[in-house]
Amino acid sequence: DRLVGAEAESDESAVEAALRPRELSEFIGQSKVREQLDLVLKAARRRGGTADHVLLSGAPGLGKTTLSMIIAAEMSAPIRITSGPAIQHAGDLAAILSSLQEGEILFLDEIHRMSRPAEEMLYMAMEDYRVDVIVGKGPGATAIPLELPPFTLVGATTRAGLLPPPLRDRFGFTAHMEFYEPGELEQVVHRSARLLDVRTDAEGATEIAGRSRGTPRIANRLLRRVRDYAQVKADGMIDRDIASRALAVYEVDERGLDRLDRAVLGALLKLFGGGPVGLSTLSVAVGEERETVEEVAEPFLVREGLLARTPRGRIATPAAWDHLGLARPPQSPG
Ligand code: ATP
Repeated sequence: DRLVGAEAESDESAVEAALRPRELSEFIGQSKVREQLDLVLKAARRRGGTADHVLLSGAPGLGKTTLSMIIAAEMSAPIRITSGPAIQHAGDLAAILSSLQEGEILFLDEIHRMSRPAEEMLYMAMEDYRVDVIVGKGPGATAIPLELPPFTLVGATTRAGLLPPPLRDRFGFTAHMEFYEPGELEQVVHRSARLLDVRTDAEGATEIAGRSRGTPRIANRLLRRVRDYAQVKADGMIDRDIASRALAVYEVDERGLDRLDRAVLGALLKLFGGGPVGLSTLSVAVGEERETVEEVAEPFLVREGLLARTPRGRIATPAAWDHLGLARPPQSPG
């Protein structure tokens, strides 16, 4: 588990639940998505019907689960939560669908990881509120049609591009969630601090927000670690100095890079002069698996404009030299 990992940690669900905004008006940032969703939900309420199926795409920790719960709350509807990997057989999905109440929200996380037969069953359920339950095997198998109550599917995916077009097309509304701006993350930190009964000033919140990699989940996690530090080493108040000292202990730097990110970047600069260098060589140099470097460290370094993946190998950008406080080599452009 990484402090700056965007995935939820195993023991985090209770505290996350406590920090979740309950209404659309409490949800910070994503203003376009909020405005559009507000219209979709208001119109559905006015018609007295169920809302169109909603697809939420975006990186982990940006608030997809939170939004699905808000949709349920705004529609005064119950919500059922499941995920693609939990639905291995079409029968698993049929069991869930057939037990839904009218108007219920079905939240299907990681929808791109559902099995193909379940996916095909979902097409019909979304479009016609009907499923065919197959009874028996081989030539004697028969399809028994089963009517479903109208429901709203809220699908979440980190990879909208991986969804088969027939599935994507069956969503009436698709929202793409972006990484949060620093100012929005500051609001997240202030809000969570209030709920956790932690005192923080504006600069303390700015310091935490700046290291949160555009992700509310990370902002909330860093806030909790800084709170510990403030309570043990000071009087509990979080200001800029406390936040930066606390996060130095956890090796999260001003830009949100952690030890692994800095090791990768450091090797690229100090051992390979900024590259280009192949992924395998770079991985050996930092003593990590290829996959760890490629999937855990690199995406954020690329997003931050510190590292580029090129056909000739990994190269550091001029900003990488600046960030690690090293002099750019003379031939380095920019
Ligand atoms: P994953 O796909 O990894 O489950 P997610 O996108 O569903 O992530 P959530 O679980 O909804 O993310 O959010 C993670 C945490 O961040 C929650 O504790 C939630 O309270 C907080 N959070 C997310 N978005 C916002 C927001 N817009 N305003 C305030 N807090 C937020």
